[in-house]
Amino acid sequence: MIGIVVVSHSHSLARAAVTLAAEMVHGPQVRIEVAAGLDEHTFGTDAVAVAEAIGAADTGDGVLVLMDLGSAVLSAELALELMDSPHEVRLSAAPIIEGLIAAAVSAAGGADLGEAAAEAENALLGKRTQLGGEQERAAEPPPESSGDRIAAHFVVTNPHGLHARPAARLVAELRGLDAEVRMRNRTTDSAPVSGRSLSRIAALGILAGHEVDITATGPDASTAVDRVLALAAREFDEAGVGETADRLDVADSSSRHAFGRDLTEDSGQKHAGITSVAASRSGPFPASTGIAIGPARHLHAAEFELPEHPAGSPGEEQERLDGAIALARKAIRESSTRVGGAGGVAEAEIFQAHLLLLDDEDLREAVRRRIADGQAGATAWAHEWSAAATALERLPDEYQRARAADVRAVRDQVLAALLGVDAETIDGSGILVAADLTPAQAANLDPAVVAGIVLAQGSPTAHSAILARTRGIPAVVGAGPAVLDIAEGATVALDGATGRLAIDPDPAVLAEFTTRAAEQRERGRAAAAAAHEPAVTMDGGIVPVAANVGSLADATAAVRAGADLSGLVRTEFLFLGREHAPSVDEQEQTYRQLAEAFGGRRIVLRTLDVGGDKPLPYIAQPREANPFLGLRGLRLALAYPELLRDQLRAIVRVAADHPVSVMFPMVTTVDEVRAARGMLEEVLPHGVSLDVGIMVEVPAAAAKTTVLAEHVDFFSIGTNDLTQYAAAVERGNDTVAALADPLDPGVLRLIDLVCRGAGATPVAVCGELAADPLAIPLLLGMGVTELSVAPPAVAATKAAVRNLDRARCSALAVRAFVCESATDVRALVRADRRLP
Ligand code: PEP
Ligand code: MG
Repeated sequence: MIGIVVVSHSHSLARAAVTLAAEMVHGPQVRIEVAAGLDEHTFGTDAVAVAEAIGAADTGDGVLVLMDLGSAVLSAELALELMDSPHEVRLSAAPIIEGLIAAAVSAAGGADLGEAAAEAENALLGKRTQLGGEQERAAEPPPESSGDRIAAHFVVTNPHGLHARPAARLVAELRGLDAEVRMRNRTTDSAPVSGRSLSRIAALGILAGHEVDITATGPDASTAVDRVLALAAREFDEAGVGETADRLDVADSSSRHAFGRDLTEDSGQKHAGITSVAASRSGPFPASTGIAIGPARHLHAAEFELPEHPAGSPGEEQERLDGAIALARKAIRESSTRVGGAGGVAEAEIFQAHLLLLDDEDLREAVRRRIADGQAGATAWAHEWSAAATALERLPDEYQRARAADVRAVRDQVLAALLGVDAETIDGSGILVAADLTPAQAANLDPAVVAGIVLAQGSPTAHSAILARTRGIPAVVGAGPAVLDIAEGATVALDGATGRLAIDPDPAVLAEFTTRAAEQRERGRAAAAAAHEPAVTMDGGIVPVAANVGSLADATAAVRAGADLSGLVRTEFLFLGREHAPSVDEQEQTYRQLAEAFGGRRIVLRTLDVGGDKPLPYIAQPREANPFLGLRGLRLALAYPELLRDQLRAIVRVAADHPVSVMFPMVTTVDEVRAARGMLEEVLPHGVSLDVGIMVEVPAAAAKTTVLAEHVDFFSIGTNDLTQYAAAVERGNDTVAALADPLDPGVLRLIDLVCRGAGATPVAVCGELAADPLAIPLLLGMGVTELSVAPPAVAATKAAVRNLDRARCSALAVRAFVCESATDVRALVRADRRLP
């Protein structure tokens, strides 16, 4: 594949152009190097830098150089004189932005240097046509054809027509096919153009509703036409087009998993009488350790008192409403960051959809008109948004009907801000009882008010559970719909370590819970007192206990809680809830603040871990049938190398002054590690070194740590994902949650395989399992060297480590491998450790 160099006076302009081009390219990324500015802030061009960039972009198939103006051209010419490239280098007269996009898309599609250069030079055709310039009829000679000719036509339904992004998607779809594809705009009676030319397709001026003719010849003609028709039916996978409903769906798990389960009382413990497909469920599941006792508190929507008359002039009413919308937007963004920081990137994506709703211009305009007609802002807002929700509920499609809940959620968030009340509340403090928690609710839990949580739905690895753990609130989940009938104020006792739940317990059961809660508090106090000491096993082994953090606040809490380091910084929090990727400078600043908060203790920065199930608005990702098995973690980072390269640039800057390690998520192959390390090496300044690790989350990686160990400095097992992939149970799917138990002997054997394969390479565990008191002996027994847990779990984890002898743990682990089930493993450890 050819390489491309962008020469510009401005570093930021060149970078932005490269990011834009990368968004248009689907699949393999083209190597694009930048020689721009004298430094990041000073305008200018430098022939030596251009020569270096050409060298770096040269993959052996030639290099196309795009320049802005004046001295950029002179520097590029001088660079060619300075260097002695064995391969062809071509300077292009194309406009820098359009040319770069056209060249990158065609190069990714396999175009050679001449073809990519021609594409770049034709890049203004689309704009010319649109702005009334010449219609490029019969611009291309008809292609040579072989085989049958297939013809079809489709109507473009994308609101903005076949603009650059969907057109780029179309070109990508045809890549690798042996077919000559031609397209014409039937509506405007244009001449046919090549389906492989982004510039020519864009020049067709295809708008929403236009009909497009497509013909194909050659061996793959039929596949080519099928693919284009399927793509058109999917609206060219354009984010936000016909997709919002999918994304919003995540928010509404309550409507998806309503199964008929009853609870029956059994000595204070509830067991499920299951009457549906969810026959494998055996909730309530333990989700966040700790004992909580208190009155049941159901979540209920706030009742808003809407003013009959405006309090001020229409201008003032509108201003107040705009202020409330801004507050709601800020709150939604913050929730997104918080949830993303706890690993809930998919949930965070829901907030993107909420932000889209908030910006719905039609609704905003309708509200504006009501206010101008003399209505109070709150009343106008409530009226229009309620009507929108009702309209959704009338739709025949169940999927779309369920979106009404999202509209109401956003409506209420703005009303709450406007009227100064909480959108959803519980009356008084106690045990929160709910069907499930939305990410916003989970993100905003206040431990001072919510002593414990009981959810009818949910699974222990769902992010609402992780958030409960991060806040140290005891929780049981998947308890079944009967808990929703618990009377408001009824006494609820729960043990978040075992999943035990008692409603209106008799005095003996209540006394038992109370005694155990007191013991636990006492143990907690003792653990907290020693939290800042190292965790040393009885046989003298030091086990660093680290914290998983997803924000600066987490970092501060972690250090206060006694964390020896951060074993996992979920950097996603910096990338979510925004329209553009954070700049290198912004990332550097945040990573620096995190490192400073840890005051000289090591932090392990995990590179961006998002994927097909959790799209970022600023990268165009294909829609995937099985996103959890798709372009996630490191796979995605390697597909968008600019994103990863920028992140690594920021990380190495901080690594120059602080103890920092970098860790790549969701690794499957050695080649991926090689590629990621290669990129790191490219940006690593002379004299800076840092440890490089990978997360072991894919069973194929777990099984080959022997070879992976040659390429990394440490491993960290992500048991949340490893369990998901080993058990073939999607992490957020509570219907099959019971099958995804990290203490399943099959998962334990994978962890053991990692430890044995790693040899002398350290193995941490940073999944939720690391904080499970029943798992800790097994993990140390298998040879895990570090545990990384949510900040509130640091002290207890250290205390658990101090009680263990590793030889005895090893013997226990061997016995666990031959257990039949996770339940048997728990019983085994309980018996051995004499735990209740
Ligand atoms: C894991 O998968 O165990 C892990 C720690 O990563 P995350 O929860 O962020 O996916
Ligand atoms: Mg993971």
